[in-house]
Amino acid sequence: MIKAVIFDLDGVLLSTDEYHYRAWKQLADREDIYFDRAINERLRGVSRMESLEIILERATKSYTAAEKEEMAGFKNDAYRQLLEHLTPSDVFPGVTEFIAGLQREGVRPGIGSSSKNTKYILEKVGLIEIFRGAISDGTNIVNSKPDPEVFIKAAEMMGIAPAECLVVEDAEAGVMAGKAAGMRVVGVGPAAGYPLADYQASGVAGIPWIALAV
Ligand SMILES: [Mg+2]
Repeated sequence: MIKAVIFDLDGVLLSTDEYHYRAWKQLADREDIYFDRAINERLRGVSRMESLEIILERATKSYTAAEKEEMAGFKNDAYRQLLEHLTPSDVFPGVTEFIAGLQREGVRPGIGSSSKNTKYILEKVGLIEIFRGAISDGTNIVNSKPDPEVFIKAAEMMGIAPAECLVVEDAEAGVMAGKAAGMRVVGVGPAAGYPLADYQASGVAGIPWIALAV
């Protein structure tokens, strides 16, 4: 029986893709490097430094390691400033209702996200209270997904055994992390077709209730 549902944040409850794009665009413009939405697609699920390397493929000069560090920092600062614009209307349709339904059934909602900006984002979109005490994020882990640490910590915070947790993920690395944690996993969005996921759904609102009854 599922007692907790642990949600990944970005791509599951909401999307900050547009803000990542605009922040990289600010950096590319500053450096006079060509960057567009097609190149941006290649940054999906890629770390910040790897993303920078992809952008620098179009650069006309080479950069030192220190310059690259500065550029990655500039991008993250720009991204954090852009997150200011998040509002509750950025939460995907049906998410709030789905979580309210869980709570009515006595199922605890939690968060398992590698992002260090998790709490700030939840605050901006008005979800911080719902998840309080059950937010495992980039500030309390050493290893990123596909390592199971972020989900194990979320289960510990709630005092619920991994076998009684259901993870909701949109990325392959996240599905792998959930399975490695000994949890059942629903793949949503891009991860819906990923064979390792126990269940598939287009998004949170479409999660089959059968996934919670096992
Ligand atoms: Mg995600």
